[in-house]
Amino acid sequence: MDKAKLTDIRTQLIDRRWRLERAIDESKEDTRLVSLLQEVDLALDRVANGTYGMCKTCNEPIEEDVLVADPLVCFCLDHLDAEQQRALEHDLKLASRIQAALLPENGLKKGEWRVHYHYEPAGLVSGDYCDLVAFEGDDGGLLFVVGDVSGKGVAASMLMSHLHAVFHSLAAFDLPVNQLVERASRLLCESTMSSHFATLVCGRAGNDGTVEISNAGHLPPLLFHGDEVIRLEATGLPAGVLCKAPYSVRKVSLDRGDRLVLYTDGLSEATSGDLEYGEERISQLALRHAGLSPEELVAAYVEDLNTFTSGSARQDDLTILVIQRAS
Ligand SMILES: [Zn+2]
Repeated sequence: MDKAKLTDIRTQLIDRRWRLERAIDESKEDTRLVSLLQEVDLALDRVANGTYGMCKTCNEPIEEDVLVADPLVCFCLDHLDAEQQRALEHDLKLASRIQAALLPENGLKKGEWRVHYHYEPAGLVSGDYCDLVAFEGDDGGLLFVVGDVSGKGVAASMLMSHLHAVFHSLAAFDLPVNQLVERASRLLCESTMSSHFATLVCGRAGNDGTVEISNAGHLPPLLFHGDEVIRLEATGLPAGVLCKAPYSVRKVSLDRGDRLVLYTDGLSEATSGDLEYGEERISQLALRHAGLSPEELVAAYVEDLNTFTSGSARQDDLTILVIQRAS
């Protein structure tokens, strides 16, 4: 575990200790609280003597996700008893269902815009974020976000759910996309552990064919404009890295039939032997299939990726989102 994470956990433990002491005062020495306080003190001792995060049975490091979810744990996943393992599995399945319920409607149509996406966790839960908000009314437009949260597994999926809540609260304020990203970044920075951040692209498609886009350290979305490919590169740091990071906005105009492709590294960094799928292949596929609808293009990417990786299991969470101005 790196130093920053350990410092975060130590801070959390001290905070818990303080809350427990106060609760014990108020509850006249509730024995359950007292034994919990002893557990917190033992965890702080382990931080102090450098044995924190090691499994008491096998002496191997405990999975970081498990520690983030419960800093008092002192056994790795392999050495939980059957009942603890069942409880954990149940929690993971529940987390997976909650996450699936946060996804937007697929095949969305708003004015002239047609959107389709593919969202696929590598495990039970994903650290990718994919979202769409269609504003009411004819001039409302469409907000879209694709992001990738640092880390993996349960901790990343919790941060993804948090981002979802942040964007849905901010979407109501009708802000320019760069200000949306600035505020989301600040909220993320103030509320999560310092080692957690997210790369993301936030865009707003207006009804006149213009798209405003702000890219917080994410892989560049590709704009297919006629037979030209335009990379929309990052205009700021990943969200949550600095509380006061500035973001700029880029405005592009899409003609009928033009489309935007957004993706996470589950696509571009998928590997086959020493080869990487790569941005060039993403470009070429869209150029070759200029006539496909967003749904068909997304399906073509998934099929091509499966061919490329010979159908092997995903190494990383995968998100592909295509937005097209209908011709
Ligand atoms: Zn173990």
